[in-house]
This record gives sequence, structure tokens and C-alpha cells, in this order.
Amino acid sequence: MIFLNKKIRLILLFCAIFATHNVYSNEKASISKIRFSGNSDSLRVIIDINNLSKHEISAYNNPSRIAVDLFNVKFSDDFSFPQPIGIIDAIRYSEFNSETSRIVFDLNGSPNIKNVRVLKPSSGSIRRLSFDIISDKKNIEIKKRNSKKNYNLRKTIIIDPGHGGKDPGTSFPKVVSEKDIVLRFSRILKKHLSRNNNYRIFLTREDDRFVSLIDRVNFAKSKNADLFISIHADASSSSSTKGFSVYTLSDKGLDKEAEKLAAIENSYAMANSRYNSNYLRNARNPSDFVNYQRKLKNNRFKSTKFASTLTSRVKSKTPLLNNPLRSAGFAVLKSDEFPSVLVELGFVTNEFDRKNLRSGNWLQTISSQFVSAINEYFK
Ligand SMILES: [Zn+2]
Repeated sequence: MIFLNKKIRLILLFCAIFATHNVYSNEKASISKIRFSGNSDSLRVIIDINNLSKHEISAYNNPSRIAVDLFNVKFSDDFSFPQPIGIIDAIRYSEFNSETSRIVFDLNGSPNIKNVRVLKPSSGSIRRLSFDIISDKKNIEIKKRNSKKNYNLRKTIIIDPGHGGKDPGTSFPKVVSEKDIVLRFSRILKKHLSRNNNYRIFLTREDDRFVSLIDRVNFAKSKNADLFISIHADASSSSSTKGFSVYTLSDKGLDKEAEKLAAIENSYAMANSRYNSNYLRNARNPSDFVNYQRKLKNNRFKSTKFASTLTSRVKSKTPLLNNPLRSAGFAVLKSDEFPSVLVELGFVTNEFDRKNLRSGNWLQTISSQFVSAINEYFK
């Protein structure tokens, strides 16, 4: 059932937390170098970092790649890495947000990881994060042995409560504020979804704080989101307008993003020297662009599929807005990396909806419908 999706994501997760040094306590730790050693059967990747505090290594199929997330570290100004060799086709790196730096190894074989270690040489503060990428043949037995303990199919769902902090969203003065309703609903939804061990669930904000739109998207990327759901409430100048609706990225939004990326890609292609030395900064390279539109379209197709599943589940419990499946160029929907929808739970300007939005029972009921739609989507 899970294999219905042809794009099967294989996730192997290796996490570790290490006590931090005091040496650089006032300074953010930095990643200075990537090195390779070993041979074609087993290639060792070594990443030099001073003061590493936490890391997460994930492996994916289709396309085959390994992502190394390093928390609270940045790339040093003279960060260097070798030419790709063996199973490694390309290396990309980026600082996703203020907390997470990521290195991606694009592979031409299966992402089989072994021997994840952090080594601390006897002198200095450098730590070495290393792991081995094992060639397919050698790994057949390892894969079989691990197959019972299968973390591969856990899906990462990002719930994005809109607005927050200085941005209250829409409101019906003195009665409801969008930022509060959507946070309340998001927490309920997270609680409901957490009962299912197949899901990892993250909120883009856990409390009443302002989070920029780009940070919301980058957060989702840093968590390798499989689905992004932005939660909002609507307002209308007409108090009779009511109902639930779901937005996906519009054609216009799609084209605009592709154009923007194309402009960036073209500038890389022209500045060839820069391409060689540092073209991977911001995780964009020309080969990405080849896949970019395809990925964006593919994810939009999935987004639309989820949006229609969701509305069909919700409509048995609450009224829908006319044409409840809508599209627009919302910033949080513009990622090629995961399917995303933006939900408007109802209108704060309509009395009927307002009563629902303030009702714990209604929020619970709607949340259950979300869970059932999410289960159906990932089936
Ligand atoms: Zn909103």
C-alpha cells in the first residue's frame, strides 16, 4: 500500500548529540572541510567541524542522495570540498536557516550508510563526523538484517500555523484573532497525528511568535518535509461569506518561480569560474534546474490530490466555500521539494464560522478529518 507512490523515500536516520566545547562558546561553530577516503566498495566521507553539537544524517531514493544536517554550525569562509568521486555525483551545501546547515551528496547508487562516527583528535577542537557509503552489492545483507526495524517509511508532516507575534492575521475585533485560532488548531492536529508512529510532525511555530514566510519554508526543507500544511482563517467584506477552502500553488505562481530560478541558473552558467569554485552555494546548481520544473509540477499534482482528499473529508462536517479548491501564488506554497497546501478553516467575519472557529469540539472534529485525509493521502 505504502508502495503505491512510485517515488519511495528511504530514510535512514542517524542522530547524535554531543556535549559542546566551551572554547567557542561565543562563536558559532563552523564546517571547514569535506574529505573522502576509501575505495569504490566503501567510500568514507569525513566532515571537519569545530565544536559540533548535533547532527542528523538521512538517506533518500529517487533521486538517490544523502543529506547531512548540522545544527548550530555554519560554513567557514574557506570551506572546501573535493571533486565528487565514485558513488558521489555531486556535492551541494546550504545554510537553511539560522540553525541548520546542510550538505547533500547526490549519488549514482543506493544510499547505504554505515559506521557513522564522530571523532575527536587528541589535539585541537576539530571534530570529524564520518560515515561510509557502501556499494550496493556489499550491502544486500545489511539491508535484509535491518528490514524489520524499518524507519524508512515515516512521513514528515509540517503544520504551519499562519501569522503570529506582531502579525495577528485577520480578526473579528475582541472576539477572535486568526493567529490564535490557527495555532490552537495546529496543536490539536499535531496531537492527533502524533498517535500514528508513521509520522514525524513539526510545527513551524509552537507559540505566539512571528516567523517569516521564507523561514517557514526553509524549516520544512530542513526537516525533509513530505507534506506541508499551512493553516489560516479567512475574512471577507461580506459577513455572509462562509466555509472551508484549500489553496494550492497557481499556474502563475508556478511559472514565476520557475522563471526566478531560471534567472539564477543562467547567471551561474555564465560565470563559469564561479561555477567551478562555489557553484553549490545555496544548494542550486544547473543540474538542479533540469529537474526543477518537473519536481515543482509533480509536487503540485500531489498537492492538488491532497487538497481534494481533504475537502472531501471535511465537507461531511462543515460547510465549504464555493469552489473550495482554489489556487494562488502564496509564498509558503512555492517549494519544489514537497507538496503543500494552504487551508482557510473558515471566515472570522461570518457568525456561523466564527462560532465554529472558537469551538474546541469543532476544531477537534475538523482535525480528525485532516488525519483521515492525511492517512488516505499517504496510503
Ligand atoms: Zn492568514
